[in-house]
Amino acid sequence: AGTLYVVATPIGNIADISLRALHVLSLADAIACEDTRNTAQLLGRYGLNKPLIAAHQHNEREAAEKIRTRLQAGERIALVSDAGTPGISDPGARIVDLLRQSGIPVTPLPGASAAISALSASGLLDDHFYFIGFLPAKNSQRETALQGLTHIPATLIFYEAPHRITDTLKTMAEVFGNSRTVVLAREISKLFEEIHRCPLQEALTWVQADAHREKGEYVILVDAAPELAEDDTEARRVLGILLEACS
Ligand code: SAM
Repeated sequence: AGTLYVVATPIGNIADISLRALHVLSLADAIACEDTRNTAQLLGRYGLNKPLIAAHQHNEREAAEKIRTRLQAGERIALVSDAGTPGISDPGARIVDLLRQSGIPVTPLPGASAAISALSASGLLDDHFYFIGFLPAKNSQRETALQGLTHIPATLIFYEAPHRITDTLKTMAEVFGNSRTVVLAREISKLFEEIHRCPLQEALTWVQADAHREKGEYVILVDAAPELAEDDTEARRVLGILLEACS
């Protein structure tokens, strides 16, 4: 069987693609992608023109089977998403799961991911991080999700859509408390990149200080929860349950 190459693409700056990624894309028989127009445009920038297979969240299962059949016939297929690393808050995991279950080789081509880029420039010191990705869209569910994360002893990494950024920061300050440090990493590698670090209580004011800041793509990082006091038995009990659930 052929191999599936999971290829990371830029999250902003078009130059953030590896030489190996371009080489693999140029040799692929077909490229599975989230949005064919978006990927055709990226390929066009590098003078590539390849057959594309649509593989998005609404057809991922069928796409996975189609890709499996082609790989079993010996083709080389690359998988990309609209931006960054496939399978990270993006389609891809189902395809890789099916191929692994079928014994077909899958190999990653490392590259951009917004979470890791934001973390690397955050200056947050905890050795551990916990990637949450997108919170639920509904306010009440978002609050519940945040409550479950209050005591996690690791930097928390969230993705957020621009139209929800103010609501999310408000809820974070309510749930986590005003003094936790937050890093807002906006438009990474793009023209208006900003990476701002402040206490949660100041985050909303920062966003609202400039109308542009309510647009654009954000990674939100929240500093690790402070160590629990020895006698905080209730918090320790809840943390134990949460860590158990995550393992
Ligand atoms: N697969 C991608 C990755 O590896 O980072 C993530 C895709 S997810 C659908 C899109 C979200 O990632 C955005 O809503 C935003 O939270 C974050 N993101 C993507 N590009 C970004 C950028 N240039 N700057 C800041 N955040 C970004």
